[in-house]
Amino acid sequence: MKLSQFHLSTVKEAPAEAEVISHQLMMRAGMLRKLGAGIYSWMPLGVRVLRKVEKIIHEEMVRAGAIELLMPVIQPADLWQESGRWEKMGAEMMRVKDRHDRDFIVQPTSEEVITDIARAELKSWRQFPKNFYHIQTKFRDERRPRFGVMRSREFIMKDAYSFDVDEAGMMVSYQKMYDAYCAIFDRLGLKYRSVHADAGNIGGSKTQEFQVLADSGEDLIAFSNGSDYAANIESAEAVQLGASIPAAQNLSKIATPGMKTCEAVGDFLKLPLEKQLKAMMFFSDSGFILVMLRADHMVNEIKLGKLAQLKNFRPATPEEIQLHLGVEPGYCGPIAGNGMSHPQKITVIADRTAAVMSDFVCGANASGMHFTGANWGRDCPAPDLVADVRNVVEGDPSPDGKGTLGLTRGIEVGHVFALGQNYSKALNATFIDQNQKPQIMEMGCYGIGVTRVVAAAIEQNNDAKGIIWPQSMAPFEVAIAPIGYKKNAEVKAAADALYAEICAVGIDCLLDDRDERPGVMFADLELIGIPYRITIGDRGLKEGNVEFQARTDEKASPVKLGDVAAQVKLLFAR
Ligand code: ATP
Ligand code: MG
Repeated sequence: MKLSQFHLSTVKEAPAEAEVISHQLMMRAGMLRKLGAGIYSWMPLGVRVLRKVEKIIHEEMVRAGAIELLMPVIQPADLWQESGRWEKMGAEMMRVKDRHDRDFIVQPTSEEVITDIARAELKSWRQFPKNFYHIQTKFRDERRPRFGVMRSREFIMKDAYSFDVDEAGMMVSYQKMYDAYCAIFDRLGLKYRSVHADAGNIGGSKTQEFQVLADSGEDLIAFSNGSDYAANIESAEAVQLGASIPAAQNLSKIATPGMKTCEAVGDFLKLPLEKQLKAMMFFSDSGFILVMLRADHMVNEIKLGKLAQLKNFRPATPEEIQLHLGVEPGYCGPIAGNGMSHPQKITVIADRTAAVMSDFVCGANASGMHFTGANWGRDCPAPDLVADVRNVVEGDPSPDGKGTLGLTRGIEVGHVFALGQNYSKALNATFIDQNQKPQIMEMGCYGIGVTRVVAAAIEQNNDAKGIIWPQSMAPFEVAIAPIGYKKNAEVKAAADALYAEICAVGIDCLLDDRDERPGVMFADLELIGIPYRITIGDRGLKEGNVEFQARTDEKASPVKLGDVAAQVKLLFAR
């Protein structure tokens, strides 16, 4: 491509709202144009990168036996009502009406439509296994669209769906997709980890996420230093810390006026947070719930949501707290006045670690008062339920018993789910088995955030000058920067000949024929992250040399004009 025939629109300044480096660089490089909140046009330079990512994904999907189809962006509501997700999806799902006032949605994902296709098309066990995929626009009305295309409202996803006759078959399909994802992210040159994940509202049994490691990532990943255990903090299991020891202190009620936080109480008593219990109050279908945690731990709402007692939970209101515990927030605890039961029925849930604490400090359910020397069983009934309801923290033992956990940030770029019969049951997707009996299909679903991958790659690969593309994603692989293209016939001739030779072998070469000053050319080519640059100047040519510089090299090195094409071809030997 000759730059004069392309549309490059680099700018010096990124918009103020661009908080993360990938968003800043994508805007500065002219890869994107914002149209509305979380909605972007992909400009020509951006599309070139997007197509490279898509090509790799297509190749690996096909290699893994997946078959491409294309499902609609706008989908009738009835299928979503049939699966039950019309209600479940909430405000994130965009709903629209047609001219006849009929309900439609803009697809956030395609389980319903593919299951509808499968139930119509896959009738006999002989047609299995099948895996269908497409690369298609998705829309999710995210609460907080941000970071450019990393969390946008409109984005492009590759989604694949496997269909098998039984669970064993589904796990084979799952593993094939898992392996294909590893191949894709390897080829894209990303540093990533696969981690155990939470199934979220898609549901299912086994699920893993592919996380690109980056400090700006919205996800926290826990990983062991003694094994390959790695999990999203949403689902990383927090083990019990410490063991139960008998009570040694007497219960005493002390005045803690105005001390509504564990920190304040700890400062006052000169006790670390590890000796205190903190109370969190919720209301669910089961009524009022008191959750007790060691004061330095954080509650994990995903884990809470999985407990039967916390169906449809929300934080309790100050009025509900007053009614059930007889006190305002800040002084709540599991011990009702003088060991009596609470005025209203409540359910007490303790985290595993909180449940084995003894001689602890906790709110006394009396305004401005706390207990010290408190003990489960002696001073209040044992919790109704002991469960893992906290986030793991750095230094926790790994749940597999090998090593300790560390935490790192990641960007979720892919997700594989073994769904089982979640959707096939709801939509009655059956086939006839070998014994002529109808059976429900086993499904898996597998997503890659194609547009997010592009941003994630930049998060990992950039410097003060701009983007540094992994070779496989680069919009152009090599750039030729002639100095004085329109003024010096020799320079032009050398540049044109080299350009023709490199293009001839299928390498994406960009010839900067704008006749700009070297400073301007170099700044643009560095900003847009072209992996290699060949500079052709009058002075070098006199000695038969051009200058060659990888985007990651400090300096350019002279190379014989006659050798440079061969050198480039070697770098891109495919
Ligand atoms: P997240 O937790 O980031 O919201 P998710 O669990 O909702 O992701 P999935 O439903 O598993 O995501 O979708 C598959 C893939 O689509 C994700 O792994 C991610 O790469 C991508 N994706 C999801 N939401 C967005 C978004 N708002 N913008 C860009 N990509 C997204
Ligand atoms: Mg989401």
